[in-house]
Amino acid sequence: MVKSREELEKHITLKEEERKWFDDPSSLPLLISDNLMSLINPEDPEDPVRRQFVPDCRECEHSWTLDPLEEVSHSVTGRLIHRYEHRAALLTTDRCFSYCRHCFRRRFTGTDSGAISKEEIDQAAGYLSLHKEIYEVLLTGGDLFTLSDDRLDYLFSALKNANKNLVLRLCTRAIVSYPQRFDDSLMKLIEKYSHDGPFMLMTQINHPRELTEECIAAVRKFLSIGIPAFNQSVLLKGVNDSADTLEELCIRLLYNRIKPYYLFQCDLVQGTDHLRVDVAKGLEIERELRKRLSGLAMPQYTIDLPQGGGKVILTHQYLDGVCDGFYIFTTPDGEQRFYPQEGRKEN
Ligand code: SF4
Repeated sequence: MVKSREELEKHITLKEEERKWFDDPSSLPLLISDNLMSLINPEDPEDPVRRQFVPDCRECEHSWTLDPLEEVSHSVTGRLIHRYEHRAALLTTDRCFSYCRHCFRRRFTGTDSGAISKEEIDQAAGYLSLHKEIYEVLLTGGDLFTLSDDRLDYLFSALKNANKNLVLRLCTRAIVSYPQRFDDSLMKLIEKYSHDGPFMLMTQINHPRELTEECIAAVRKFLSIGIPAFNQSVLLKGVNDSADTLEELCIRLLYNRIKPYYLFQCDLVQGTDHLRVDVAKGLEIERELRKRLSGLAMPQYTIDLPQGGGKVILTHQYLDGVCDGFYIFTTPDGEQRFYPQEGRKEN
């Protein structure tokens, strides 16, 4: 586990901008698990795993906000955020096994808020029992699986009792940063509650190199007890902003029965400008991926709009307009095709 400059320098030679971060660090701490550290090529200063986890002084530039999705104003209890009518997010802890430099929740992550208490769980469960319109809860943070098995037991029990129809999304990067966490005792606990209602495993894997044998083995434990896996990647400059990298990632995810679900545009959160890809480039990548990938392997390129505007799917436009009773399309290969409007018959 690397959490200081001295420990980091045992593995890599710091670049100027990385060194400077230690002079005036940002609020998100340095923490890189041994698993992730072993994936970083020390000879490559632009290594894609390094860019995600080694801090950089550009994080301290004060642009944008710390809460682009306006989660604070949508908080209904100490830890529960109710922004969309039918789903809510529960901040189970501020801790992770490693801190991603692109974390969109850096207002909260790594702030020493600690694990959700039993009282906070009870408050959230109380709200959910009164708001049966919420049918999905994202168990997020921080990383849910930094909680002890006992606290997870209490959490699952309280939420399942609050509303037996709830779908619980288990949002975790531990699958990459600390796959050893998914030992027999934790998996037995998850299996016990999976009979009372569905869990969905939501992973964040951004680069093919993160999909290690250990990671795949951990995901298989969920699949083997009937919990499906979905991946939410973040589009990051110098990490995965190429169609080749994302094509490889999505095909390997699908092969390992992890559905590529979202490819998120990096949120407008303070300290992440140097990692953000321009939307125009993101759209070019999306268009290229759509040509190369099957529907099952294709993630949805999505932006979470600032000021709590919600999620919008970003995709290249194939419908060019309407003329003389026909819709005019451009095919992915750039050719034109016509499709009749309702009622229009071929002569
Ligand atoms: S694992 Fe998630 S919550 Fe933790 S630092 Fe990374 S993006 Fe943020």
